Amino acid sequence: MLTLKDIHKSYGAGSQKLHVLKGIDLHIGAGEMVSIMGSSGSGKSTLLNIMGILDSHDQGQYTLADCAIGHHLSERQAAFLRNQHLGFVFQSFNLLPFKNALENIALPLYYRGINRKKRNKLAEEYIERVGLADRKLHMPGELSGGQKQRIAIARALISNPQVILADEPTGALDSQTTEEVMQIFKEVNAEGKTIVIVTHENDIAQQTQRQIVFKDGNILSDSAPATPAATAS
Ligand code: ADP
Ligand code: MG
Repeated sequence: MLTLKDIHKSYGAGSQKLHVLKGIDLHIGAGEMVSIMGSSGSGKSTLLNIMGILDSHDQGQYTLADCAIGHHLSERQAAFLRNQHLGFVFQSFNLLPFKNALENIALPLYYRGINRKKRNKLAEEYIERVGLADRKLHMPGELSGGQKQRIAIARALISNPQVILADEPTGALDSQTTEEVMQIFKEVNAEGKTIVIVTHENDIAQQTQRQIVFKDGNILSDSAPATPAATAS
C-alpha cells in the first residue's frame, strides 16, 4: 500500500541544512496497523507528512496505492491524491471551531462537492460509528479531548480512504480516552484499513501489529520488516 525507497529529506540550506530522513526503506502492506516510534525530533512527523503528501521528499521513490508520488506535485495534484487515498488524524484534532460536530465530520465531502443531503446522511452514520450520536450539534469547544478526537477520526473516515495516517493521536488525551481512541482504530483496522500511528508512547505501539523505531533519520528496528516476497505483493 505504501512503499518508500531510499527516501531523503532535509530542511534548510548551506550550513543550516538539517538532514532529517537519511534513506528510508519501508513497505507497509494493505490492512497493516503499524506504529512509528522514536524520540522527539527524530523525524517521525516528517516521514508521516511525506506519506501523507503534505510535504515532498528530496530524493528516493514513494509509491502510494500503486501511484508513484513525484517530488514536484502541484498542490492541486497532491490534494487530489490525498482526497482519494488518505485520512488524517492529528494530536491537536484540527477541528474547525465554528462548525458543529456533524459539520466538521462532513467537511471532506463538502470539498468533494457532494450535496448537503448526502453529506448529512453520511456524517450521521459516521458520528454514530464513533459513539457520539448525542453530540451532533455540539461545537468543538463543548467537547472533551477524547470526543474531539473521535470526531476527527469520523472526519478522516467519511471519505472511505484506504489509509489512515495519525500523528500522535493520543498525545493530548488521558489514559481512559486514549483507550477509547485506540479501540476505534482497531475496529477500523479490522475492517481492512491500513493505519499508521506515530507515537512516542510504548503502550500505544504495543497495541499495533508492527512497531517501527526511528533514530536519527534511520529505521533502528522494525518488528516485522517486509520480506522481498511480501514487498512484491
Ligand atoms: P518528530 O515528529 O519525530 O518529533 P519532526 O519530523 O517533526 O520530528 O522533526 C525532525 C527534525 O526536523 C526536527 O529537528 C525539526 O526541528 C526539524 N523540522 C521539522 N519540520 C521542519 C520545517 N518545516 N523546517 C525546518 N525544520 C523542520
Ligand atoms: Mg512529531
